Amino acid sequence: MIQLINRDLAPKAKGWLGKWQNIIDSKPTYKEQKEEARRLWPQKSTTNTLAAVKDTLELMCSGAKRCQYCEDSAACAVDHFEPKAIFPEKTFAWSNHIYSCQNCNIPKANKFEVYAQHTGNRINVSHLHHTQQNKDTVLQRPTKGNSVLINPRYENPMMFLELDLKMKSFHFTEREQEGTIAYERAFYTIETLELNKRDYLVDAREAAYENYLSLLQRYVNLKTSAATKAELNRPILAIKKGSHVTVWKEMIRQHLNIQELKVLFEKAPEALNW
Ligand SMILES: [Zn+2]
Repeated sequence: MIQLINRDLAPKAKGWLGKWQNIIDSKPTYKEQKEEARRLWPQKSTTNTLAAVKDTLELMCSGAKRCQYCEDSAACAVDHFEPKAIFPEKTFAWSNHIYSCQNCNIPKANKFEVYAQHTGNRINVSHLHHTQQNKDTVLQRPTKGNSVLINPRYENPMMFLELDLKMKSFHFTEREQEGTIAYERAFYTIETLELNKRDYLVDAREAAYENYLSLLQRYVNLKTSAATKAELNRPILAIKKGSHVTVWKEMIRQHLNIQELKVLFEKAPEALNW
């Protein structure tokens, strides 16, 4: 997972999102706001405005419209980073939308934890919808705080996560020491999005590594055989359009620690900027 380059949504689409959000926000209670969000979102999902949201999110995807969480399947669902079932006030917030695949959207569902604003305590707000008060079930707003899940729209996931290329497990690991907030957030993100649990993701990252490695090798061979500029451009373009972009970024980041990469990048240091 990489940090996305944010794009602006067209003002007209933003205007409509604001109007629909106002409908939800004008409901007097949290319970009614949740109900309105649940009713309104599917109703608006086929509008031109949501098509514009998807088109703009697509410009922020890597490769061929790849999911912004796993980078594997095609993005097809507008995911609410802060789930609309818990945060109805973020249902139509452009800043809360992430283009994801169903395979990420489904396990993520309404799981959400925060570091509470005042105490810093970690709280699972997915389970705080109902509290028993005077024998009536009262719906409570979640505790305010910062997300435990890493948000690729506003943070660089590579600061928290590292892909294991050295031992070739192609699993994500936590970059920081156990016991730190950064470790906790990385662990939670890997678990919630099932980034290591899904074998096909691990296999796809391994295949991407071999593909990038072959392309880089081909580029180095062409370079030493005085190939034309057009010939040299072909592996460069293939790398730039490659799938699982995190794998390539990790190859750059870790090249000094992996012999086969160190050798190739020494011969083509320009590739460190691709
Ligand atoms: Zn995905």
